[in-house]
Amino acid sequence: MYNHHNDISNKENERLANIKKELLDQEFRDAVGTISKEGKRNYIFPQKPFGKLYNLRSYFSYFYLVLFFTLPFIKIEGEPMFLFNVLERKFIFFGQVFWPQDFFIFAIGLLTFLVFVILFTVAFGRLFCGWACPQTIFMEMVFRKIEYWIEGDANQQRKLKAMPWNAEKIRKRVTKIIAFFLVSFLIANFFLGYIIGIDRVGLMIQEGAIVHFGVFSSLIIFTLVFFFVYYWFREQVCLIVCPYGRLQGVLLDRNSIVVAYDYVRGEPRGKLNDASGDKGDCINCSACVRVCPTGIDIRNGTQLECVNCTVCIDACDEIMEHIEKPTGLIRYASENNIAKKEKTTYSWRLKLYTGVLLLLLSFLAVLLITRDDVSARVLRTPGQMYQKLPDGKISNLYNIKLANKTRKIIHIDLKLENTTGEIKMINQVDVPKESYYQTSFFVILKSTTIKKRKTELKIGLYENGRRIETVSAIFLAPSL
Ligand code: SF4
Ligand code: SF4
Repeated sequence: MYNHHNDISNKENERLANIKKELLDQEFRDAVGTISKEGKRNYIFPQKPFGKLYNLRSYFSYFYLVLFFTLPFIKIEGEPMFLFNVLERKFIFFGQVFWPQDFFIFAIGLLTFLVFVILFTVAFGRLFCGWACPQTIFMEMVFRKIEYWIEGDANQQRKLKAMPWNAEKIRKRVTKIIAFFLVSFLIANFFLGYIIGIDRVGLMIQEGAIVHFGVFSSLIIFTLVFFFVYYWFREQVCLIVCPYGRLQGVLLDRNSIVVAYDYVRGEPRGKLNDASGDKGDCINCSACVRVCPTGIDIRNGTQLECVNCTVCIDACDEIMEHIEKPTGLIRYASENNIAKKEKTTYSWRLKLYTGVLLLLLSFLAVLLITRDDVSARVLRTPGQMYQKLPDGKISNLYNIKLANKTRKIIHIDLKLENTTGEIKMINQVDVPKESYYQTSFFVILKSTTIKKRKTELKIGLYENGRRIETVSAIFLAPSL
């Protein structure tokens, strides 16, 4: 019997397969839109965006900018809340000082962060890139806005570029260079503030560049790098440099939510007044392409270049409202949402990542809670064996190296934990705050307590009578 329904759905499937084939066959995947065939830079002039999502992103970015410029000034017990001093190997997160001794916690923290990033990307694609990445925030919400303000919208910028070097072009270009340089310099100051502390940057400003030449040089290098990135390099950071961007190909799957064009609804494209009735909702107006800061056409499908900035959603929604069609032809959706009209599900892959993330988070929490305030290393002093004392006792000399991770001076007493004997300090152990301290001490044991040539000692470190750590050391004695 002839099945009319099957025939229709077969035809529909065939239509969708053809659309997808057409989209995938196009050569846009063979090249990056911002690089010409000759290998030269295709400079992009995106049209000034507007719309609900753009406004929301602007508010978010103002919040981040306020955070970026105020956090270096926030201090906890006289120390910055965040510090990433790679030179002195000192890191502060939320007021907690981390030392090279905490490397293990650091590594687990990084691993946890990595799993979080993977989980987040599998589920929500490049949501971070569009809404929170510092590169996008500074490029689209700071420098691009300055550029529109000085040079006008895309068409005016194109005209300016094509124009010979007349007074207007020189005035606009010089103003832009000065503005970009000053903002880059400002960002570089704060960026450096996160590395060496804003006080040291302030000191350099007060005492002059000659006295703090190292800091000043770093400041100039950072300024030039930022200037280069935002004046010229721009979206190339996301396309060529950013490792996160390049990972998208392996992280995204058919259920990942990304900025996507609903080709089922939109294709085949046609002019608004096209008389044939089988056209989709896309009227081929290119509004979505004109606003894209990475110069791509989202209708070609998910692409490496797309930073999910959402301005094409706003642009298309505006067109849809204008032609009185439902908005959301470009929207946040997964491939399965669009192709199969499926609802987003919590896939086995997501469940697996969540499990690993929870495990890592618990482990990290345990490490943080049980983290020592003081870490110590005891080694027998090199070149020293043992000494026989006149009263028959045996003594060994040790070096102790302590790291005080707290913000107060810590007085430490040493006690033998697993044997009776005496500890004689060379100096009092007062470890200055956030510092290393090194001294020596003798362990003296009666020969009657020594059972073998090498005895493992357990030495307790006490602060105000409370044991904070136990370290091991080998005690050497003459052969029995
Ligand atoms: S395709 Fe859309 S979301 Fe992606 S970068 Fe271009 S404008 Fe932004
Ligand atoms: S803005 Fe919308 S209607 Fe216009 S070309 Fe893009 S997808 Fe098609």
